[in-house]
Amino acid sequence: MRNTSVLISGAGIAGVTLAYWLRRHGFTPTVVERAPALRQGGYKIDIRGAALDVVTRMGVMDEIRRERTDVRGASVVNAAGKRLASMGGDTFGGREGEDAEILRGDLNRILYELTANEVEYLFDDSIASLTDDGDGVKVAFESGETRTFDLVVGADGLHSTTRALAFGPESEYVRDLGYHISIFSVPNHLGLDRWELTYVSPGRTALTYSTAKDTGAKAMFLFASVSPDDDHRDRDRQQKLLTGTYAGEGWEIPRLLDGMADAPDFYFDSLSQVHMDRWSKGRVALVGDAAYCASPASGQGTSLALVGAYVLAGELAAAGDDHEAGFGGYEQAMRHFAEQNQKLGPGNIRHMVLRSKTQVWFQMKMLSLMKYLPGKERMMAKVMEPIQKAARAITLKNY
Ligand SMILES: Cc1cc2nc3c(=O)[nH]c(=O)nc-3n(C[C@H](O)[C@H](O)[C@H](O)COP(=O)(O)OP(=O)(O)OC[C@H]3O[C@@H](n4cnc5c(N)ncnc54)[C@H](O)[C@@H]3O)c2cc1C
Repeated sequence: MRNTSVLISGAGIAGVTLAYWLRRHGFTPTVVERAPALRQGGYKIDIRGAALDVVTRMGVMDEIRRERTDVRGASVVNAAGKRLASMGGDTFGGREGEDAEILRGDLNRILYELTANEVEYLFDDSIASLTDDGDGVKVAFESGETRTFDLVVGADGLHSTTRALAFGPESEYVRDLGYHISIFSVPNHLGLDRWELTYVSPGRTALTYSTAKDTGAKAMFLFASVSPDDDHRDRDRQQKLLTGTYAGEGWEIPRLLDGMADAPDFYFDSLSQVHMDRWSKGRVALVGDAAYCASPASGQGTSLALVGAYVLAGELAAAGDDHEAGFGGYEQAMRHFAEQNQKLGPGNIRHMVLRSKTQVWFQMKMLSLMKYLPGKERMMAKVMEPIQKAARAITLKNY
């Protein structure tokens, strides 16, 4: 497969990781990204299990550790800002051993820099149409350019354009879990020092934290949806929805919401999963959220993207000139891992957003009593067991 040209749509975690590994295996990847530059922002994410092997094999583990968030702990607050319960960072994040926490944007930049000199990146553009004629894929870009590639891979996230063009409309594959999430940078007006504060009310959770490498803070809002997400790119509508949903809430909510107008990295999306019977069709395949989004509630989206990209590139390389065998090998190696991680999402979200006043009251009571409970760290480790198990539900080959 030397010099096989591969167009990758999307320069997120899956796209840049795939570009890296394809290049390493002798392919010629080109990455097209809709945004004018690499997209910064996003929550702090954990790299666990098999995904740790991928970043270690890419030689970026030291850099990831240097850029780690180093969040020391978290507290749950009530409407008056009183800290009801606190927990250490690793326990709270469900981390063990070598697990690493880093801001999504920092990870994306580290991986991008690894590839920037040897991969062609086309920013501010997108695939407009695809024609797979059996020998190659003719791609028309929104910019007007037309090029032909041997293979095309959609790494363009939950609302993948590649998936819509090659496999059919989003409604066939995307399952809305009934929640929305928004994350953006805010000034650190609470003077947090690598600490997270969470506020919970019925149907609405909000939190803010600061990290080691960030002089500002991040705000996150996670809430039960009141209306469907009919246009995921309409920022004005999304911000109005957020303001309306949190109207009348106490704590620091109004000040955190004030920050969103100027936030350079405003992110808003539904909590959804992608379920597909096949991740490839002819010469087109999907990777990461585009193929098997597990939703932010799984805590495993980034690890899935890293592992999926590594496996796809490896299987294509192992299959020589037979891209169908490569895509088949990728399906076979990844399917169980993707499914195990997708299973985490719906269960986790029920603990992240509480539905009733009684649930909130009960949880707050439990948390305020927790400091008196012996072995609370062990209890948390038990809670996090399923995610650690899912994170290791694949054995990576050496391609
Ligand atoms: C800015 C941002 C912030 C995020 N924040 C969080 C978060 O806080 N918590 C969380 O759990 N998950 C977050 N996510 C999602 C998380 O990054 C993914 O679940 C995970 O990393 C899998 O990554 P992915 O590369 O498959 O998809 P994504 O990270 O969504 O990357 C997809 C990339 O494709 C690009 N793209 C989309 N459409 C097109 C198109 N038509 N043509 C070309 N390029 C296109 C996007 O701009 C993006 O760069 C965020 C994603 C983004 C883009």
